[in-house]
Amino acid sequence: MIFRQMFEPESSTYTYLLACHDRGEAVLVDPVVETIERDLGVLQQLGLRLAYTLETHVHADHISASCRLRLRTGCKIAMPAMDALPCVDIGVAEDRPLTVGSLTLRPIYTPGHTETHHCYLLDFGGVQRLFTGDALLIDGCGRTDFQSGSAEALFQSVRQKIFTLPDDTLVYPGHDYQYRHVSTVVQERERNPRLGDGKTLEEFMHIMANLNLPYPKKIDAAVPANRLCGDCSETVVEALRAIGGTSLQG
Ligand code: FE
Repeated sequence: MIFRQMFEPESSTYTYLLACHDRGEAVLVDPVVETIERDLGVLQQLGLRLAYTLETHVHADHISASCRLRLRTGCKIAMPAMDALPCVDIGVAEDRPLTVGSLTLRPIYTPGHTETHHCYLLDFGGVQRLFTGDALLIDGCGRTDFQSGSAEALFQSVRQKIFTLPDDTLVYPGHDYQYRHVSTVVQERERNPRLGDGKTLEEFMHIMANLNLPYPKKIDAAVPANRLCGDCSETVVEALRAIGGTSLQG
């Protein structure tokens, strides 16, 4: 298996490249439009064909590169089927995994950050890796105050669907704002200050209701664009630069 974790600094987003070594086919999880040339360069350098892009959710803090990657490479766009977006080629769901050669990404429905958010579990070579999107971040979680978010739903998703996975499952988040790269299920279950053991639903809801985060600068551009699988125009990066602004907590 070929595996790269790649960082986009403006939105502090991690894009994950996963590829089947034997077939030379790759999937990019949560690609960002600002880093499309970098991602295409890495694919070329590694001699891989991009088979799919795969989104954890409709992002509010950045514009997806999926649409432009499909134009450039002919890849297919995979996204939660629940979103029912006409631009999507392959709808994934808990009973509809995505297979790339010898790799199978198993979707886990984890609402809360958004109503249709999914994590993806990859079990390969005796190692379980969970790509948690914005459901679970290292020592944190995605915000729940937009896009039909719900602190209560997120608490149940993380407790029932993520913290019940084997302890040593590696947790790869959709963002990190402090240069951390990876965690484990047991580490988050025991130490996550919002959702870890010992925190009640009421405490979590109180924390989430009092984050006092600013309105995400890009949300009004990003959500409509991402409901079209990203902005396919050549001027999208310049337009985003004009909006500017960093974001926090997904
Ligand atoms: Fe998000």
